[in-house]
Amino acid sequence: MNDCLFCKIAAGAIPSKKVYEDEDIFAFHDINPVTPVHFLIIPKLHIPSLVEAELQHVAVLGKMLALSGRLAREQGLPDGFRSIINTGRIGRQEVYHLHMHILGGPQPLGTMIPR
Ligand code: AMP
Ligand code: ZN
Repeated sequence: MNDCLFCKIAAGAIPSKKVYEDEDIFAFHDINPVTPVHFLIIPKLHIPSLVEAELQHVAVLGKMLALSGRLAREQGLPDGFRSIINTGRIGRQEVYHLHMHILGGPQPLGTMIPR
């Protein structure tokens, strides 16, 4: 196994609070939530970030998006949520295994980026 934290989580080698799993995708609660509901959707395939995403990844990337609404509803977010993918140094990505944050709660979130 490589040294990637999220590869290890997807493989079950590091424990997480699992939200969903299939052959391509793993989803789990963020360890340091910034909203009442905050979970991450990741591909099982190690893609470091959107910088490295290519057309061969269309199916798994589409699956992450296509599952997000259902998983959000199941986690108690029937009225919407925010999805964020931080990418690279400029996007302040911390973990270099592509992941989509799903954020929400009972109240509307703040503005996307304070002006
Ligand atoms: P990013 O800045 O987009 O790379 O976000 C990385 C996210 O991973 C942060 O929100 C962290 O709180 C979260 N995180 C780091 N380690 C873990 C872990 N072991 N289990 C769950 N979430 C984690
Ligand atoms: Zn990885």
